[in-house]
Amino acid sequence: MSQLTQKEACCGCGACAQVCVKNCITMKADEEGFRYPSVDMQQCVNCGLCERVCPILNKPETEAPSQVSAYAAYTNEEAIREASSSGGIFTLLAEAVLSRQGVVFGAAFDEKFDVHHVMVDRLEDLWRLRGSKYVQSRIGDTYRQAKEQLESGRPVLFSGVACQIAGLKNFLGKNYSKLYTVDVLCHGVPSPRAWNKYKQAQETAVDSEIQSIFFRSKVAGWKKFSMVLEFQNGGQYCELLSEDAFMKWFLRDICLRPSCHSCRFKSLPYPADITLGDAWGIDRLMPDMDDDRGTSVVLVNTEKGSTLWAKIQDRMVVRQGDVEQLLAPNGAAKKSVKAHPKRKAFFTAMNNGATADQLTRMVRVPLVRRVLSFGKRCVKKILKI
Ligand SMILES: Cc1cc2nc3c(=O)[nH]c(=O)nc-3n(C[C@H](O)[C@H](O)[C@H](O)COP(=O)(O)OP(=O)(O)OC[C@H]3O[C@@H](n4cnc5c(N)ncnc54)[C@H](O)[C@@H]3O)c2cc1C
Ligand code: SF4
Ligand code: SF4
Ligand code: SF4
Repeated sequence: MSQLTQKEACCGCGACAQVCVKNCITMKADEEGFRYPSVDMQQCVNCGLCERVCPILNKPETEAPSQVSAYAAYTNEEAIREASSSGGIFTLLAEAVLSRQGVVFGAAFDEKFDVHHVMVDRLEDLWRLRGSKYVQSRIGDTYRQAKEQLESGRPVLFSGVACQIAGLKNFLGKNYSKLYTVDVLCHGVPSPRAWNKYKQAQETAVDSEIQSIFFRSKVAGWKKFSMVLEFQNGGQYCELLSEDAFMKWFLRDICLRPSCHSCRFKSLPYPADITLGDAWGIDRLMPDMDDDRGTSVVLVNTEKGSTLWAKIQDRMVVRQGDVEQLLAPNGAAKKSVKAHPKRKAFFTAMNNGATADQLTRMVRVPLVRRVLSFGKRCVKKILKI
């Protein structure tokens, strides 16, 4: 079991805990708020199953790999697009499966706005999975639930970050013809404890509980998206990603899971049948596919992915492109991000009661660097003219 508990590598997918027939693995949060397996050695019968399903120790193969094809796309249904992070393609794929008596798994908020994986089997509940939640989602026993559904013959769409899909595939251990998987291009997942700190600070600031959260509001456009919170007293908070404290913590890499800094799932083909992301840079690559209301980059990685993709063609605007060109502006698509130099200090300060403002000061970019990077941008612009 020693390999299983190596923290740097463990992505927290929970496959080991769900496969253990003795139920002797519990996923426990550490001082940073990330969950890791903890084994009750008294109950363990040393069967080795947990090691066999670990996607870090045994990377699953992509099913019937085909040539990966890449697209820029967005739904032609404005309400879905507005409520989604990029082009709303996830909703179309999910609806295609639900309309065939299938079920869909993905990340949803609970009543405290913690993030969990859940199963949805009705169209009217699909909104719960829509939209990115930039916090590590607790997988719970959803691999077991997905297996139950597949064994009963129902189509299943399972969505999540790449390591969660890899964990699911190893957990299932066989290729179910009715299983479809979707992963997202993944920058990394922030700490649930840092997320709690942020929520508490927001509630304290307005003296009211949170009623709704949307990480990817497009009020100021898709490229400069905004974090929006609504409170029970009627108050509202709306801040651009460049100004919001949590988005700064996330995107300056100060509170990501350690495994995200050496992610094993950043090479093509990605583990899922279909991969979704933001089509950053589309304004330069395919200007007519950009109206700043959200465009997705879609990678179709397998034959099964092609079958599902074909079912939603009449509900979107789509253009095929070159995989490398479409992924190039997406920094995290192929390379893990480096941890912020103050990552450790951030968690120590957080656990010692630092305020959200004090934590945000730790990611402030020094004036000299800001001036230099502004200068670089100006020079680049001039050279382009
Ligand atoms: C943690 C995280 C990091 C990401 N990093 C990048 C990136 O660096 N570059 C990029 O181009 N795109 C990234 N994305 C993907 C992007 O934010 C959109 O999710 C994607 O473009 C799909 O958008 P959509 O409009 O099709 O669907 P949406 O409806 O916006 O997306 C919903 C899908 O996201 C899944 N999801 C939401 N939150 C989580 C979560 N916490 N854990 C697992 N799955 C979740 C849902 O299960 C569902 O499948 C990231 C997403 C997440 C969750
Ligand atoms: S070796 Fe078997 S019994 Fe022991 S923790 Fe792993 S899966 Fe459970
Ligand atoms: S199966 Fe997942 S949670 Fe368990 S040790 Fe491996 S990576 Fe960690
Ligand atoms: S960066 Fe890699 S390890 Fe981290 S959540 Fe994303 S897929 Fe998993």
